[in-house]
Amino acid sequence: MTAVKPSSVRVEPSRGAAARLLDTNGVEISGVRGKLTANAPLAPLVWFKAGGAAEHLFEPADADDLAAFLRALDPATPVMALGLGSNLIVRDGGVPGVVIRLGKPFAKVVAGADHTLTCGGGASGILVSSTARDTGIGGLEFLRSIPGTVGGFVRMNGGAYGRETAEVLVSCDVILRSGEPRTLAASDLGYSYRHSKLPGGAVVVAATFRGHAADPANIQTEMDRIAASREASQPLRSKTGGSTFKNPAPEFSGGHKAWELVDKAGCRGLTRGEAQVSEKHCNFLLNTGAATSADIEDLGEDVRRKVKEATGVELEWEIQRVGLSADAAPTKVGNA
Ligand SMILES: Cc1cc2nc3c(=O)[nH]c(=O)nc-3n(C[C@H](O)[C@H](O)[C@H](O)COP(=O)(O)OP(=O)(O)OC[C@H]3O[C@@H](n4cnc5c(N)ncnc54)[C@H](O)[C@@H]3O)c2cc1C
Repeated sequence: MTAVKPSSVRVEPSRGAAARLLDTNGVEISGVRGKLTANAPLAPLVWFKAGGAAEHLFEPADADDLAAFLRALDPATPVMALGLGSNLIVRDGGVPGVVIRLGKPFAKVVAGADHTLTCGGGASGILVSSTARDTGIGGLEFLRSIPGTVGGFVRMNGGAYGRETAEVLVSCDVILRSGEPRTLAASDLGYSYRHSKLPGGAVVVAATFRGHAADPANIQTEMDRIAASREASQPLRSKTGGSTFKNPAPEFSGGHKAWELVDKAGCRGLTRGEAQVSEKHCNFLLNTGAATSADIEDLGEDVRRKVKEATGVELEWEIQRVGLSADAAPTKVGNA
């Protein structure tokens, strides 16, 4: 693993992995209760199990703590939220600035009036959908099959089986990069296919979803159907990032989905190092062993090129690619 080049964040490494947050005058900022780690490896925290370290990883104690942290942080320091890393390639040179990870304090799901569920930004899709079932709220079954967090669903407009987050989201609470808390309605997020206009650096700390009254037994049946269909079609126990490319608009692709174009271009099973296009679902890339993130990303680019040559369609990445390549980050930071 290569460590990242230091950016302007003012964090002083100390013994062990803990670090102290300093303001721009070098004075320690007190009152931040979360855990700040310098040079924190991200590979264990993402599905591909590849990539470099976060220059700093911050795990806030609660939303107020995150707001205080962001207010105190040098405004020039880049900030990125991390969910379960199920839609991410973290490049091998790591991520400069601060990566924010929402842990247990953000993992609660509570049912409210009018078939709503209020969910922490770090709650998993399985917890959201199973709480919906237990409280007789239908319409959220699709979240059962997306292995991410509420924050990731809101940012990515996660969807499956004909439904997407934009249809069920009422509003979300975010902490802007400046540290200012805001509540945004779904209509503020400019949703389109697997995309939102959530402001850069904003962290979703909670979201409210609305479903409809339904019988828990029927909800369970639908969740079981979705789980079985997933199991049959996707490499769920592999090191992967889910769908690699967005399905192109039908007018550009003759109605073909991304996986069909990848297949047509002869890319099923294609490899680069220990990265491979899945044989089971060829819009999934796999780390079959010790692939680097460069292997995975370069394989994706190979596929895009071959699809363009074979079909004329330019596939667009759905997976988010973040951080620096290995050769851009020669300096070791911190003491992890
Ligand atoms: C096996 C498999 C199957 C999948 N199937 C589907 C599917 O059917 N449909 C689908 O839509 N996706 C699918 N995905 C992709 C992925 O699960 C979704 O994109 C999911 O929404 C990502 O959530 P995450 O919390 O893991 O986000 P991450 O992968 O950690 O991050 C993705 C993006 O969201 C941002 N983000 C994460 N948390 C927050 C937050 N709290 N606040 C603000 N921004 C945040 C990150 O900065 C990044 O830009 C699949 C992935 C896998 C591995």
